Amino acid sequence: MDTLTHLIGGDAVTGERTLDVLNPATAQAVRRLPLADAAIVQRAIETARDALPAWRAMPPAKRAQVMYRFKTLLERDAQEICALISEEHGKVLDDAMGELKRGIENVEYACGVPELLKGEYSHNAGPSIDTWSNHQPLGIVAGVTPFNFPAMVPLWMFPMALACGNAFILKPSEQSPSAANKMAHLLHEAGLPAGLFSVVHGDREAVEALIAAPEVKAMSFVGSTPVARSLYEGGTRQGKRIQALGGAKNHAVVLPDADLDNAASTLIGAAFGSAGERCMAISVAVCVGDETADALIERLAPQARAMSIGPGTEPGHDMGALINASQRDKVAGYIEAGASAGAQLIVDGRTHPLVESSPGFFMGATLFDRVTPDMSIYRDEIFGPVLCVVRVASFEDAIALINDHQYGNGTCLFTRDGEAGRRFADQIEVGMVGINVPLPVPVAFHSFGGWKDSLFGDLHAYGPDAVRFYTRRKSVSQRWPERSAQEAAQFSFPS
Ligand code: NAD
Repeated sequence: MDTLTHLIGGDAVTGERTLDVLNPATAQAVRRLPLADAAIVQRAIETARDALPAWRAMPPAKRAQVMYRFKTLLERDAQEICALISEEHGKVLDDAMGELKRGIENVEYACGVPELLKGEYSHNAGPSIDTWSNHQPLGIVAGVTPFNFPAMVPLWMFPMALACGNAFILKPSEQSPSAANKMAHLLHEAGLPAGLFSVVHGDREAVEALIAAPEVKAMSFVGSTPVARSLYEGGTRQGKRIQALGGAKNHAVVLPDADLDNAASTLIGAAFGSAGERCMAISVAVCVGDETADALIERLAPQARAMSIGPGTEPGHDMGALINASQRDKVAGYIEAGASAGAQLIVDGRTHPLVESSPGFFMGATLFDRVTPDMSIYRDEIFGPVLCVVRVASFEDAIALINDHQYGNGTCLFTRDGEAGRRFADQIEVGMVGINVPLPVPVAFHSFGGWKDSLFGDLHAYGPDAVRFYTRRKSVSQRWPERSAQEAAQFSFPS
């Protein structure tokens, strides 16, 4: 079995504490992973500190050149990266390719960094005074990422952080760590000087060391809400800049006038793609009126039953295994709880043959009807292939239901009514909204972020907000008076 290493300043670094990384489709260990302690984290910080001054001084257009080369290398090795993702995460290969392509969009955006870092300038802001403001890098910044997007979520962060002139330390998920090492090798092949990008593997201990280090000026976190909240609170108390993206429960509202065939087929993909292990997965369909609900379920149920489930590395499947045994058992527990609470179990994923016959962590697609807001399957993020149908009487009830939920990451409205679409986009308390678009993940030149307990911090991930997050503004006022000008002492505030 291979052993992964930390990658610090271009060096492979091992450690004593280790963890086995499993293939979720077989439950077999595929790699051994070292888990960093505070000393390893400190080593990454010191290497970054040494490498920073030259990188910060390099013209942004030169830093962008590294990103151009990195993009072509990611494309060259895309199949290899996707195979690693699929092996450790369980998602199907096409889905892994989708996440990588969305990640590469962020590298392309970072290639435009000379334009993005252009500041503002005022000639003659005062007598013989010119004023400009620019964006300067923060220094050493860190990223902590979840298991479910081993390439895309790190790519939301480090290309722009580096292009802005920072050094970056990535702590990827210990459950799907290999894509991070591969991307680090490609960055160095693209010409990134050693020390500016380190991968430190580990668990809570490594993250706490990063948050505690005074040299780490900012952290981007993506993961579950309890960890996001606690890192945001702990980090900001120390004066660090933190953006912490958390969990979700995403609703799709289906109005009676919607194209139900299209709504059903896109909902199936949005609910069960990646086995529901996406922070933008739709997990609740809110149907306005009983007729809408009956007609939607009539279309959803056969498609949910017909899904092809199997190892993600095998071509042709719609859905792979869940990440680990405890996640599989947690999902099964929620299905039991929903049925006991009185929700109508239309398709029971626990009856899928692979759940019993495979050693892997499989769970079939599950569809519930007549779910009510008091049930745990409605309130909690399940992060598995479970779609709940909630019936409401009116569009207003649907909006009120969503606005009342703890989470506000993504949502979608299915309708043919433009007025309803505009109203929904305006009134819904959710950060990312789709109208007939079930997974409204913004493209790389917009930013990504939820509201309420789905994001702690002011700035969203990637896009223009990433430039703001990874830099700080400075304004400079410069005066070159005429040689003949007489300077008298001024005691009033300069105006
Ligand atoms: P997680 O919170 O368990 O782990 C995320 C990262 O934090 C990992 O690197 C992990 O090692 C680290 N970590 C875990 N516990 C920690 C602790 N107590 N202190 C410090 N660090 C800790 O999340 P996960 O299970 O890897 O990912 C799934 C979660 O991520 C879901 O809740 C999902 O909604 C969320 N997610 C959110 C977004 C978003 O953009 N909002 C995107 C993807 C995933």
